[in-house]
Amino acid sequence: MSVLEASGAVVLRPGDTAYDEVRRVHNGMIDKRPALIVRCLTTEHVAAAVRFARARSLEISIRSCGHNVAGRAVCDGGLMIDLNLMKGATVDPNARTAQAQPGLNWGEFNAATQRHGLAVTGGTISTTGVAGLTLGGGFGWLMGKFGFAADNLLSAEVVTADGAILTASVHEHPDLFWALRGGGGNFGVVTSFTFKLYRVGPIVTGGFNFWPYKRAKEVLALFREESAKISDDMSLVAALVRSPDEPHEPLAGIIACHVGPEDVATRELAAIRGFGEPVVQAIIRKPYEDVNSQYDFGFPNRALNYWKSSFLKRLPDDAISSMVADFARCPSHMSILMLEDVHGAATRVPTAATAIPHRAAGFNLLIPSVWSNPSETALNVAWTQDTFARLNPFFAPGRYVNYLDDDEAQRGGDPVRAAYGANYERLVEVKTAYDPENVFHLNYNIPPRKSATR
Ligand SMILES: Cc1cc2nc3c(=O)[nH]c(=O)nc-3n(C[C@H](O)[C@H](O)[C@H](O)COP(=O)(O)OP(=O)(O)OC[C@H]3O[C@@H](n4cnc5c(N)ncnc54)[C@H](O)[C@@H]3O)c2cc1C
Repeated sequence: MSVLEASGAVVLRPGDTAYDEVRRVHNGMIDKRPALIVRCLTTEHVAAAVRFARARSLEISIRSCGHNVAGRAVCDGGLMIDLNLMKGATVDPNARTAQAQPGLNWGEFNAATQRHGLAVTGGTISTTGVAGLTLGGGFGWLMGKFGFAADNLLSAEVVTADGAILTASVHEHPDLFWALRGGGGNFGVVTSFTFKLYRVGPIVTGGFNFWPYKRAKEVLALFREESAKISDDMSLVAALVRSPDEPHEPLAGIIACHVGPEDVATRELAAIRGFGEPVVQAIIRKPYEDVNSQYDFGFPNRALNYWKSSFLKRLPDDAISSMVADFARCPSHMSILMLEDVHGAATRVPTAATAIPHRAAGFNLLIPSVWSNPSETALNVAWTQDTFARLNPFFAPGRYVNYLDDDEAQRGGDPVRAAYGANYERLVEVKTAYDPENVFHLNYNIPPRKSATR
């Protein structure tokens, strides 16, 4: 028995029954084999795993819910710290705060907070991890009203590179706390997140309308117009998709979530509800939890994924034409081309206030290409790259770290600087202070100064 097993953590090695199940992540393209997987149940297990790996010069990867498309949660030959069994959620309805352990996904965490009619900005689908999403910033249905997920973090418990257990907040280790709110997994292993919560629903107005593809340009133009006058209560996503049923007709849609009173939602959604003749008309009153899980089915676990994303300068007609023409040629009926509208509270936070710098109002383009047949990988990757390249003239400099795929560095540019912009140098300072040897480098890495990088 190793010291890790003696600590009470569950240790898996190649050949163990659960090893293959646990090493797999959401993106079926990722097929890595750690030498050891440490399934932690407590913060002390995490600290023991960090010390164990360092003493043996093993690379460390950190997995919470395994949703990261770049697959940085798992490693070849190193030690994977698996936090997925740590699923505790403690809600204080009077203080309107909640503690979340890193194994929770947004569906699980929302279930705990919505029991009290409370919520915080979380992912647009329910199966994404609270941990990775928050550490990268955290876009979601409530960002117009309450800012990014990271904006609502009150404190975090962190196991640092030397195996110490710290609390980071505005009062304790404020530099580390600043960096955790967008800087990803660069600074330590977060074993608990304390969030501020707000009254949300439980019944809100949400869902989607989809129109025939021949109206796609008008639908994206409608999305642009409605986004220009959007209130904080509302979030909108435009989506080019294919019908899930044969023959997988292409469709253009707008997905909405409005957390204000019903009469206000009715007024603010009137133009979208009244447009054209939708083939799907499903913006209705329903629980916030249902809004959060309404298109989980579009992202099946272990499907093959290749993503590209960038913020846009604007959304001119030429960009819309390019998107509509290219999506019509998309080889997979599971892929989506979507536009997220960043606005409201998320854009009123100063750029330097947290590590996530994306505070300009505007659109983020995301092309999550998804398919199931490995023989179609080259075709789907090529389509995604070509579509993305043709949209290059419309891109703003910023990239959202949580949407970066594995090959960004090989494809030119510096994705990490693009992700952090003006905040990059300060992140390097914090990294140098807390992880001078770059122990936590399996991420979109911010190398420390003068580090002996591996
Ligand atoms: C289908 C799908 C939908 C998505 N929707 C959204 C969305 O609506 N909004 C949005 O903002 N993002 C979204 N994302 C992106 C998502 O935020 C990132 O993939 C995020 O990393 C997922 O978190 P996770 O805990 O599942 O990550 P994991 O894959 O488990 O971890 C990813 C990386 O995050 C770091 N990390 C994770 N947990 C910890 C921890 N406890 N301590 C320190 N570092 C840690 C590590 O570097 C790790 O390699 C989506 C992704 C998918 C696949």
